[in-house]
Amino acid sequence: MAFNEYDPAVFAAIDDEAARQEHNIELIASENIVSAAVRAAQGSVLTNKYSEGYPGHRYYGGNQFIDKIEQLAIDRAKALFGAEYANVQPHSGSQANMAAYRAFLQDGDRVLAMDLTDGGHLTHGSPVNFSGQTYHFYHYGLNPDTGYLDYAQIAQLASELHPRLIVAGASAYSRAIDFARFREIADSVGAFLMVDMAHIAGLVAGGAHMNPVPYADVVTTTTHKTLRGPRGGMILAKATYGKAIDSALFPGIQGGPLDHVIAAKAVALGEAQRPEFTTYAHQVVANMQAMCEGFAADDRLKMISGGSDNHLVLLDVTGYGVTGREVQDLLDSVDITTNKNQIPGETNGPFKTSGIRVGTAAITTRGFTPEECRQVATLISAAIQNRTDQNKLDEIRQSVLALTHAHPLS
Ligand code: PLP
Repeated sequence: MAFNEYDPAVFAAIDDEAARQEHNIELIASENIVSAAVRAAQGSVLTNKYSEGYPGHRYYGGNQFIDKIEQLAIDRAKALFGAEYANVQPHSGSQANMAAYRAFLQDGDRVLAMDLTDGGHLTHGSPVNFSGQTYHFYHYGLNPDTGYLDYAQIAQLASELHPRLIVAGASAYSRAIDFARFREIADSVGAFLMVDMAHIAGLVAGGAHMNPVPYADVVTTTTHKTLRGPRGGMILAKATYGKAIDSALFPGIQGGPLDHVIAAKAVALGEAQRPEFTTYAHQVVANMQAMCEGFAADDRLKMISGGSDNHLVLLDVTGYGVTGREVQDLLDSVDITTNKNQIPGETNGPFKTSGIRVGTAAITTRGFTPEECRQVATLISAAIQNRTDQNKLDEIRQSVLALTHAHPLS
């Protein structure tokens, strides 16, 4: 029996989502399109298995093949990033961060991290998140004049606050991060350095961004953004912290690992070791730079930080007298998918926002060229300019469909 006869409600929605992904231009900077092999591993019989513990030390029988797969994922992660230790069990980036904090901190310890509205993540000390509720977070931000990280300000804050841990890494920062500089700052105050490379992990793997592993005590990441694996998390570290991180994750905060997801991580990490992945990572950056050239032609759209060195850029849309949320909805109507995003100095709050975030990872995987990425920027400008003209919006949607039809997913 076909799946859509077996459970029509769920499988019809899955088919609809597949069609949406096929015809939309996907610009959400944290998304990507995984290979058929990654999906096959994730949809495999491994979902049936329980395997609390780590390879060779499990609390359940029958784990001889699971051990092999998890060890492969660990070995590939270590080789890819040059790490002494890897843990591939975190169910998500947030859980990777929680485990890292619990391995290095006591409740109430001071931590210095990037502010959410300047590009940090909820798990970097937001008061609505466990991180901000458990530890004493202080925040650094962007230099308001340049839109770049201000290392002098970070060093100054570190010397005043003496945090136990400094967190580098972001969800919406478009410039290269100097991890060597962060290491110097951490050393100057005797702090641990944690890098959350969730967004840029694929660029790091492909040699298109500085690798934080040689500098940080611990590096956390998601596996599903630029790294192009299944949704999940991972932790890399110096070997000396391995035991503490292992037990902070299991039994500290997780039970049984998701073995099917770990197999998919192993496949994705294997893909990231191939030369084509290096080409992809550099193409993601080249495509973003082409897109920024397109945005630069529109003086009512302001790029935070003035452009991009990585896979994303944050746009201030208030020059058009609209909010980020309005632009997100408008772009949805022409089949361009983005997310509203707060910008530095945000005045519209997290639901309306003043910006949108766009990224080139998914469309690069799909085969978009720099010229097409420049065209996508022009289509976004045109949609905002013509937001009350339905005929123009219909034309823009046709141009979007022409681009996605030129690069089929299947
Ligand atoms: N860290 C950063 C920098 C992120 O951008 C994200 C996700 O957007 C996370 C952590 C959390 O990942 P997850 O959504 O898998 O919990």
